[in-house]
Amino acid sequence: CGIVGYIGNKKATDVLVDGLSRLEYRGYDSAGVAVFREGDIITKKYKGRLANLDEEIKNDPIEGTIGIGHTRWATHGVPSHVNSHPHGNADSSIVIVHNGIIENYMELKEGLIEKGYRFLSDTDTEVIAHLLDSLYIDDIVKTVKDAVEYLKGSFALGVLSKNEPDKIVAIRKDSPLVVGIGENENFIASDIPAILNYTRDVYLLDDDEIAILTKEKVTVLDKYGEEAGKQVFRVDWDA
Ligand code: GLU
Repeated sequence: CGIVGYIGNKKATDVLVDGLSRLEYRGYDSAGVAVFREGDIITKKYKGRLANLDEEIKNDPIEGTIGIGHTRWATHGVPSHVNSHPHGNADSSIVIVHNGIIENYMELKEGLIEKGYRFLSDTDTEVIAHLLDSLYIDDIVKTVKDAVEYLKGSFALGVLSKNEPDKIVAIRKDSPLVVGIGENENFIASDIPAILNYTRDVYLLDDDEIAILTKEKVTVLDKYGEEAGKQVFRVDWDA
């Protein structure tokens, strides 16, 4: 339902929870975040109100300045802790948030189970996490590009890879996603209000475009791997 991502110098969970709270009006049944901390990806997620997640983060803070967050509106699998996003592969070296619906997830899931992958949740989303794992060698951007070729349906994705802790990768098809451009910090969001506290300069991603965010820079590639030549859209309204 809602996606926020942050890479910069601020405490990531502050920006993620704040951003997700701006998307609460859309409705959701659970919320979660994943943040790089000392070479690992730490995930926290809760069924129910964002306030539950916020309280848990206050009690047990996650240091780290790069992360992704999600509010879920369940389509596949009941609202529950295990079905909440973020979802990861077995060792949490690749962790994702997803909005949308993967229509061919059953077929993909069967193939992955045959390869030995174990599923913890009933979501369509978890299929993407294991699919990424099955394709990953050493380049998460290439892996995401390759993986979406297998996906039928709609998706906006935010992806973290433990081996490449200096970036967030994002891609969309038939589900909204924008990139917020700051100074020494960048953002992704499923909707502009999530990041308006931090920046008014955004790229509106088109279908099949992939965004690679580092602290300093945003690169947007089209489906052929060429620079997409995005124009900055300046938001002149308030949420
Ligand atoms: N289809 C996914 C799920 O059920 C994502 C739902 C959403 O967009 O929040 O977990």
